[in-house]
Amino acid sequence: MLRMSEAVGRLSTENALPVLARAMELEAAGRSIVNLGIGQPDFRTADHIVEAAVKALRDGHHGYTAAAGILPLREAIAADLNARYGVEVDPDLVMVVPGGKITVTFAVLMLGEPGAEILYPDPGFPPYRSVIDFTGAKAIPIPHREENGFAFSADEVLGRITPRTRLLILNSPSNPTGGVTPRAEIERLIAGLADYPDVAVLSDEIYDQIVFGNAEHTTLLSYPEIRDRFILLHGFSKTYAMTGWRLGFGVWPKNLIERAQCLSINFHSCVNAAAQYAGIAALEGPQDAVATMVEAFERRRRIIVERLNALPQVTCLLPGGAFYVFPNVSETGFDDKVLAHRLLEEAGVAVVAGQDFGAEGRGYLRLSYANSEENIIEAVGRIGAFLETAARA
Ligand code: PLP
Repeated sequence: MLRMSEAVGRLSTENALPVLARAMELEAAGRSIVNLGIGQPDFRTADHIVEAAVKALRDGHHGYTAAAGILPLREAIAADLNARYGVEVDPDLVMVVPGGKITVTFAVLMLGEPGAEILYPDPGFPPYRSVIDFTGAKAIPIPHREENGFAFSADEVLGRITPRTRLLILNSPSNPTGGVTPRAEIERLIAGLADYPDVAVLSDEIYDQIVFGNAEHTTLLSYPEIRDRFILLHGFSKTYAMTGWRLGFGVWPKNLIERAQCLSINFHSCVNAAAQYAGIAALEGPQDAVATMVEAFERRRRIIVERLNALPQVTCLLPGGAFYVFPNVSETGFDDKVLAHRLLEEAGVAVVAGQDFGAEGRGYLRLSYANSEENIIEAVGRIGAFLETAARA
């Protein structure tokens, strides 16, 4: 019998993906399914970005590139962060990777091992926990509660740091809640971290440009006090509707960048060259497609939140960012996992159970509103009809 490593056995999967597979199976069998399960923009990549990739291929960019990514892309990334945040970024500390996710993997591989502890958001993006478990480090959840707008409490984070803590993972705007951590809480955390100079910080800011209304994104890149132990996770998937291109990047501290590049060399050599040229076009070209997409998300956010709150036994916060809502369904009498399953099988609506994002997600559902207004209205209507029938049964 084949014997697999225990480490690989400890990896878990993202439940949004099996939900998508089941939704597609039901659709193929002729069922009408509205999919609010998947976390990707329902927009096409802008034409000028696609053209840049085509041109790169025509121009003969067919070979390997530097493991860290081509210099013009790293310079464009540094210039963009500088323009948007007023922060100096050395292009030599930028590492381009095949999707934002890889920066999590590398940071956790670099700092996690048996005996170490890593703090991560709960509910949170599932790969954080999965990769921590893979390394044998102990995963310590940081609760992100509804009463705090699904943001962390700096005191709670600091209270969980021990001499074994190696890494703290943060994510705002958040998947799965859409929560945006207020600047004041971040500043309290940064001040407290002065007492723990050996703890590295990974901030996943992949949704930084998808914020609405009064919500304001605060980048942890703007705190020089932690720059020597700070890793920024970012990428093109969400802002530029490029999930399938597999293009992301990290900004690393000086003392970790060489090992990060070594991981790239071992794992994927480099990101495909044409996608990297597309990335330059995304950053340096017109940004109106981003603005149009964010405006569409903002309209849909209002629609979905209003309609969810009109359902009996469902309450939903108005999230500040990303393209998810995280309604509280604990009063419906259903376990969220059972509810998600039955909504897909019986009502034809694909959503993800809150507990698939961690124990603190129990009693919630994640709905992605990266879908048309018409489909959103249809989906919430179906959820309402399902709950009404269930209440009568
Ligand atoms: N971080 C968060 C919070 C996400 O939600 C996602 C994608 O869903 C990613 C990172 C990874 O994005 P990519 O597709 O670029 O790997």
